[in-house]
Amino acid sequence: MISAAHEQSLISLGISSHAPLPFDSPWCMKGDQLDPYLSEMDSVRRDFRSVQVYKGLEIDFIPSLISPDDFKSQLDYTIGSVHFVEQFDDGRKWEIDGAHSHFLEGYERIFRKDIKAVIRRYYELTRQMVEETQPGIVGHLDKIKIQNSFTPLFNESAKWYQEEIHKTLDVIAKTESAIEVNTRGIYQKKSDTTYPSPWVLEQIHQRQIPITLSSDAHHAKDMINLFPETAITLNQIGFKKICILLDGRWQQVAFDEHGINLKGTSHYTMA
Ligand SMILES: [Zn+2]
Repeated sequence: MISAAHEQSLISLGISSHAPLPFDSPWCMKGDQLDPYLSEMDSVRRDFRSVQVYKGLEIDFIPSLISPDDFKSQLDYTIGSVHFVEQFDDGRKWEIDGAHSHFLEGYERIFRKDIKAVIRRYYELTRQMVEETQPGIVGHLDKIKIQNSFTPLFNESAKWYQEEIHKTLDVIAKTESAIEVNTRGIYQKKSDTTYPSPWVLEQIHQRQIPITLSSDAHHAKDMINLFPETAITLNQIGFKKICILLDGRWQQVAFDEHGINLKGTSHYTMA
C-alpha cells in the first residue's frame, strides 16, 4: 500500500484495518493481531519517509460491546462505523452490509419486514456513536442503501428517510467528527453513488461539516479509485476544502480533480 502510495505521488496515507470484534467475524483482525498491526505501522512509518503514514482503525459501534473509544489512545485517528444492528435470538449479530440473504434474514426475523424500523435503528446507532465517542471520521454514513441494489427496500427521497438523515447530520454538526466520502460502493458496482449520496453531501455542505475523501481500498490498485470524479462532484456541490491528516494534525486543504493543493502543487492524499 505504501509503495503504491509513493508511486502515485500521495503524500499522506491513513491505514485503517477493521478493529477486532469481541466475537467471530471473517472480515476483521483477530484480537491478538492488533499489537503486531500497530507495531508494523510504527516500523513502516520509520522506514518510508516519502509518504506520511497514519495509524488508524475502522471501529464498530455496538452499545456496551465495542466503540471507537476502546482504541482511540493507540491511534492517530479513528473511523467509527455501524455494521451491526441488533442480533438474532441465537446471539448472532445482524450485519447490515453483508450478504443480501443475511440481511433479509434479519429484516424478516428481527424486524418483521419493517424497513422504517430498520433504518431508524441504524441511524439512531450512528447518532449514539457520534454523541458518545466522537470518532475522528464517521465511516460510510448511508451504507445501508447497499441492500437496495438487490431488492428495492426504501426510497431515499421518502420524507421519513430524509428526516433520519437530517437528524443524524444535525448531531454530527455539533461535534468535531468529519464525514467520510467513500467511493468503494461505486467501483465495486454495488452503489451508483458515493457513501453518502450526493443529496446528503449537499446537506453536509450546508451544515459546514468537514469531509474526508476515501476509497476504502482493500487493494493497492484501488487506492485513489474515483477520486478525480468524486472531487469534481464535491467541488460542484460547493466544497472547497477537505480534511486530511498532514504533519501530524488534521488540516483543511483546497482540492480539485488533480488532488489536494498545497502551495500551488497538487497531490493526492487519502484517509
Ligand atoms: Zn465499514
